[in-house]
Amino acid sequence: MFKMIDLPYSYDALEPYIDAKTVEIHYSKHHQGYLNNLNKVLEGYEVFVGEKTIEEILSDVENIPEKIKDDVLFHGGGYANHNFYWSLLTPNGGGSPDGKLMDAIVRDFGSYENFKDQMVNVSTGVRGSGWGFLATNSDGKLSIVKTYNHGNPLSQGLTPLLTIDVWEHAYYLNYQNRRKEYVEKIFNILNWDRIEDLYNNSL
Ligand code: MN
Repeated sequence: MFKMIDLPYSYDALEPYIDAKTVEIHYSKHHQGYLNNLNKVLEGYEVFVGEKTIEEILSDVENIPEKIKDDVLFHGGGYANHNFYWSLLTPNGGGSPDGKLMDAIVRDFGSYENFKDQMVNVSTGVRGSGWGFLATNSDGKLSIVKTYNHGNPLSQGLTPLLTIDVWEHAYYLNYQNRRKEYVEKIFNILNWDRIEDLYNNSL
């Protein structure tokens, strides 16, 4: 049985960028729902799960039993992506990255501003429901990846460093159809210290 993570801040902590009602429903209904469905799908598959983390399962798609593969990728991806999303946001966020991550951003995107523009445009451009990610390969090369539904770059052999949920439930109460504005505002609450740690640990 996988368990719900604690939200590392109160529902209203991300205001004005993400309103309290959106965080509450997103965490306690949507995120919780993916977890509940994942655990239901995995009933009878305890041997397959063993001690694996959800990230390990998503990294090794070929070994997910065929009968439950689609459901595990959807609900397990939904569970993992939301765990990750909340962990990257903080009321004390914003600014820009530092250190090796900043060096890699300049190397791979030309500048932080170029990276940000691409991250905003790729995330905003997801057709339908999905996620925008910054990810790294095993050589430390960065790329921006969009996924549909609850896809995760782990399933493509990449390590995710940052994600933006662009499902309508992530922003619709406050931003309605203005997805791009929501994506741009997210940069005010990104926890770059944590994202830098993820990058440094992946090298
Ligand atoms: Mn979501």
